[in-house]
Amino acid sequence: MNTTIADDIAELNLPEFSSGSVWLVGAGPGDPGLLSLLALHALRRADAVVYDALVDPRILRLARAQASLDFAGKRGGKPSPRQPDITLRLVALAREGKRVLRLKGGDPFVFGRGGEEALALAAAGIPFRIVPGITAGVGGLAYAGIPTTHRDTNSAVAFITGHASDGEVPDGLDWAALAGVPVLVLYMALKHLRPIARRLMEAGRRGDEPVAIVAKATTPEQRVVETTLAAAADAAEAQRIEPPALVAIGEVVRLRARLDWLGRNR
Ligand code: SAH
Repeated sequence: MNTTIADDIAELNLPEFSSGSVWLVGAGPGDPGLLSLLALHALRRADAVVYDALVDPRILRLARAQASLDFAGKRGGKPSPRQPDITLRLVALAREGKRVLRLKGGDPFVFGRGGEEALALAAAGIPFRIVPGITAGVGGLAYAGIPTTHRDTNSAVAFITGHASDGEVPDGLDWAALAGVPVLVLYMALKHLRPIARRLMEAGRRGDEPVAIVAKATTPEQRVVETTLAAAADAAEAQRIEPPALVAIGEVVRLRARLDWLGRNR
């Protein structure tokens, strides 16, 4: 018997999206095919969608036609809505009895401030659910042909933000400790790549260590620049790499020479 995808999903008895609740959902790094079934289910049920700048427009088109779409990110250099304003909006929409879908790029709990929003919902007594997404630092690297861990190269990986909340290089980082982690995956690191690379080299990482910069990963505009730690900041500038981008540092990057399945399929 032939069934549709909708029939197959209905068979799964996914949890009900109750009125007056908020689902904090990860939309993945871009490619709509990387959405989870729970994310798709939420998009088909939500009354209000509050989304971030990094959510792919193709994903927003999956929302119900009747749903309100509310942008809560940075646009055109204008300041982003303050985090307390976003959480207040989520609480207000839920109290109006809406099914509120808070949609974030990647995974909501990885450098996405999902924890802060969930804490605010918990404090306000609003029922909520967390739907993890594929984080860019894992899924984006996979689309560049780079495993996050690989037995021959690394049994540990560190995910790092290159951008503190004040916009500076995070100063709470233990660079010496990071220098000892075989693979580093940096989010939000393009702007501060030069000082970050310098600090890592001062802390003992080799300047000739392989680096991949993966921009707009999993989208049709994905670009990958392979370089070294010493040359990374210059390479990003010379190639005019634009955010969002990830920076992967470590020997595992060399596997891309054999594993770039996307480049090979294009
Ligand atoms: N919650 C998100 C991360 C948000 S922080 C997640 O789990 O993926 C924003 C940073 O994520 C960007 O500066 C960039 O470093 C990274 N990022 C998100 N989407 C990306 C993409 N499609 N390609 C490359 N980097 C991406």
